Amino acid sequence: MLFPPRRTYLPFLLLLALSVTGVSRAAAPLARVHPGGLWVLAVPTQGADSARVTVFGETHAMYAHNGKWVAPIAVYARTKPGRYTATIRLDDRPALRVPLQVVAKKFPTQHIKMKKSKTGLMSPAILKKERQILNAAYEETHPEPMWRGAFQSPIPGARVSSDFGRTRYVNGKFWSQHGGIDLAAPQGKVTVAGNDGRVILAQKLWMRGNTLAIDHGMGIITVYNHLSSFLVKEGDTVRKGQPVGKVGATGFVTGPHLHWEIRAGGTPTNPWPILKGGIPLP
Ligand SMILES: [Zn+2]
Repeated sequence: MLFPPRRTYLPFLLLLALSVTGVSRAAAPLARVHPGGLWVLAVPTQGADSARVTVFGETHAMYAHNGKWVAPIAVYARTKPGRYTATIRLDDRPALRVPLQVVAKKFPTQHIKMKKSKTGLMSPAILKKERQILNAAYEETHPEPMWRGAFQSPIPGARVSSDFGRTRYVNGKFWSQHGGIDLAAPQGKVTVAGNDGRVILAQKLWMRGNTLAIDHGMGIITVYNHLSSFLVKEGDTVRKGQPVGKVGATGFVTGPHLHWEIRAGGTPTNPWPILKGGIPLP
């Protein structure tokens, strides 16, 4: 799948020793995350009723978990290396500032030839519309983790035909940083839920084709694109490994395959660490 993801991460855990008052005293080791990695930001709840964090120009909800406010944050795959700051607001108190070091990572390049009949889908208006639909669905995320342990491949044993993060050129022009993994599979092959969750989107889109999105809580969402059919509907609760759809070639594709993403806070993240080790929560 070939749309340009907006941003992306390594599972990473940051625990902070904070003082209640004033600007943060974040006496924690500096978090270091690659583009495409996952940063699990956590601070003590400090008796606050709400928390949000602004980082990379976007504001995200934080979720109460085990006496902490937690936000799994994806570092978009095209983020430039350097020092960044997450600004946390507990209720209306003064901001806490937590630094983050984004360290360089190189992704391989991939050239794709797309038929003229498909290139009409490469339109900013289509991308914008799809993003709006997905973002509206993401807002329904459950505030607690619904997933259990490591995630599983949506097509166990399938060959990876294009890996996460590849810098993609379509017909010679830069197009995107690949926001998921492509799994080679024939038309009609069953794809299964990567973990427990709830179906928040089962809809025919344009670029992404028939698109299924499963919410796993705390802004963690898996996305299944280019399906030929759905085996579940919006609102359904699903279990890890449950059949949810069938592989197809709908949308912006050169042939049948599954494009599969894990997103955090709306941004795609490298699925491999999460397939291996899950998402580390405090
Ligand atoms: Zn893809």
